[in-house]
Amino acid sequence: MTDTFQALLVDENREAKLQTLSIADLPDEAVLVDVEYSTLNFKDGLAVSGASPICQKLPMVCGIDLAGTVSESKDSRFNIGDKVLANGYGLSERHWGGYSPKQRVNPDFLLTIPAEFSSQQAMAIGTAGYTAMLCVNAIRDHGVLPSDGPILVTGSVGGVGSVAIMLLSALGYEVTAATGRPEQEGYLKTLGASSIVTRGELARKSKPLERELWAGVVDTVGSTTLATALSQVKYNGIAAVCGLAGGLDLPGNMMPFILRNVRLQGCDSVMAPMAVRVRAWADLAAYLDLSLLATATIVEPLSRVPTLAQEIIQGKVKGRVVIDVNS
Ligand code: NDP
Repeated sequence: MTDTFQALLVDENREAKLQTLSIADLPDEAVLVDVEYSTLNFKDGLAVSGASPICQKLPMVCGIDLAGTVSESKDSRFNIGDKVLANGYGLSERHWGGYSPKQRVNPDFLLTIPAEFSSQQAMAIGTAGYTAMLCVNAIRDHGVLPSDGPILVTGSVGGVGSVAIMLLSALGYEVTAATGRPEQEGYLKTLGASSIVTRGELARKSKPLERELWAGVVDTVGSTTLATALSQVKYNGIAAVCGLAGGLDLPGNMMPFILRNVRLQGCDSVMAPMAVRVRAWADLAAYLDLSLLATATIVEPLSRVPTLAQEIIQGKVKGRVVIDVNS
């Protein structure tokens, strides 16, 4: 067995490069994971491209997600051979992440992969899919029923959006998908959307209150898109928001909250408590159609990540990208 391997590091100059590491280079954490797959999320794009200073310590092995098999453990919760995954918890920010065939991980960050999923399927879900589940659960927990009206999903061709459509549709909700890529209408309808709105219909200056359209919103875009969506949420509805692909501002107003009792619910995946994660992964196992997920997923080698990082921050990636860290 060779004791060196190639990992994707962001160096002290914030340049992402494949570098040769050995196990001795890995951080001093209690569980050694033979990583099989990682993923590409928007945040990975920001970290690897250097578009945003995601990596707080350098050098940093990027990759906010990982899935693989435990090969050494000093922690009683995990044994050699266990199939595990990690999402967020500061991977790629303060802790080395998944763009490496081997990684030592804090056991507090690890979950057992649900039996329904292979490690590749777990990473086809990844942070994007798990965050989609958090948003959908926020809508369900607010008491919104399929009979209350359609759910709007923004940034819908992206990773979070694509999985949110699959989940909402499986749960019986009518889904309207907002996209800047109307040529992807066929893809979005295959995932479960029943109608499409174009990005420009939302990314504009909105009135304080507009016609009530949505019982709920899953928003990955922010800015004018979210402000317009909020002005269209029905009485007692909810916007579950997780992303800022369109900008980090929110040029809206108070009217939806004080006149329509609308809830604006933030959804964070990175520091979500373990119980929230366990529930989300159990719900993903219950509701996600894995054959549909496969149609929205491609697998790419680790060497392609720097190029893919540029593409995802330019809004050019469709669905989910799994990274095979061993190829
Ligand atoms: P993707 O790049 O896969 O999807 C983002 C989508 O947003 C794009 O596909 C595009 O959809 C749309 N978009 C891109 N740029 C713009 C723009 N300028 N204006 C309007 N729409 C735009 O990213 P992810 O799905 O992985 O992540 C989506 C967002 O959610 C990101 O901001 C990410 O950081 C955030 N996120 C937050 C998490 C949390 O814990 N809070 C966890 C995971 C993600 P289309 O082509 O259909 O218009």
